[in-house]
Amino acid sequence: MQLNQKVLETNKVFREDIRNIAIIAHVDHGKTTLVDAMLKQSGLFRENEEIAERVMDNIDLERERGITIMAKNTAVRYKGYKINIVDTPGHADFGGEVERTLKMVDGVILLVDAAEGPMPQTRFVLKKALESNLTPIVVINKIDRPDARIQEVINEVYDLFIDLDATEDQLDFPILYTIGRDGIAKEDLNDDSKDLKPLFEKIIQYIPAPTYDKDAGLQFLITSLDYDNFVGRLAIGRIFNGSVKQNQQVAVVKRDGTVIKGSVRALYTYEGLKRIETKEAKAGDIVAIAGLDDITIGETIADAENPVALPPITVEEPTISMI
Ligand code: GDP
Repeated sequence: MQLNQKVLETNKVFREDIRNIAIIAHVDHGKTTLVDAMLKQSGLFRENEEIAERVMDNIDLERERGITIMAKNTAVRYKGYKINIVDTPGHADFGGEVERTLKMVDGVILLVDAAEGPMPQTRFVLKKALESNLTPIVVINKIDRPDARIQEVINEVYDLFIDLDATEDQLDFPILYTIGRDGIAKEDLNDDSKDLKPLFEKIIQYIPAPTYDKDAGLQFLITSLDYDNFVGRLAIGRIFNGSVKQNQQVAVVKRDGTVIKGSVRALYTYEGLKRIETKEAKAGDIVAIAGLDDITIGETIADAENPVALPPITVEEPTISMI
């Protein structure tokens, strides 16, 4: 495994086998097609045979079918790593939701059509991502288009980053070139890559692994809610610290600081496009927790004995036009 070189506070440690990313793209620039291609190639590059075998069982069906939707949370496997891809609404009207979603990730892929270039809709989300200090990778997609104007589009992307006050580090973004439709990514336009390996590699090398405080108890931020017919309300989000097990007693820290007790009836992780039950999850994982009915977005699910809330997040925002 490659370790991301970043200076950490003393009690911070990396969750090295996970990467959490969002893909930012203007509509029709090829986000769904690219995620579909990533799913099809998920688990095919092996380092650890055991993991690859197990994952293939879970996502074989999707790989055969291909997908036509972008799921809220998708997970793909590359060698021994799990890459969680969270969907981000591409429009300023979803301001609060964009910010919440970005809380779950450490990096973003800015996907830009090689002919169209950056569009207004991507600007808003990229602005939020840069403000949140996320690590960007730029992907120039549809390089097969006869009207592709790759170098110009790259210059437009640099201009956009500068305009949005990107830091020096953020401006130093890596660039990949893709034909999402064919499942091909290139580091260099002249290389003869036949798969997405260069993209998977770049995500693993360049997007920071999640970090957590090894001394802290459970802290899970409720980022969105879902519903399951069998287990009821689901809290979806990222575990920032500690771990959680099925049937564990936990505390919910409400937004006003009130604490209520409850227990985890079921715990789910993401694999391909599916939500699958798991016994335990740890800091860095994106999971769904069932069994806590009196919950809303922005609350923290925490250690039962010593509940500590995570910093508050934007929950509701009026419609804004900041572009
Ligand atoms: P989304 O709205 O960003 O999710 O875009 P889609 O994935 O639905 O793609 C929009 C259109 O672009 C579809 O017609 C795709 O077939 C097409 N498309 C996706 N990737 C490529 C590509 O690499 N090259 C070309 N020429 N077309 C592509």
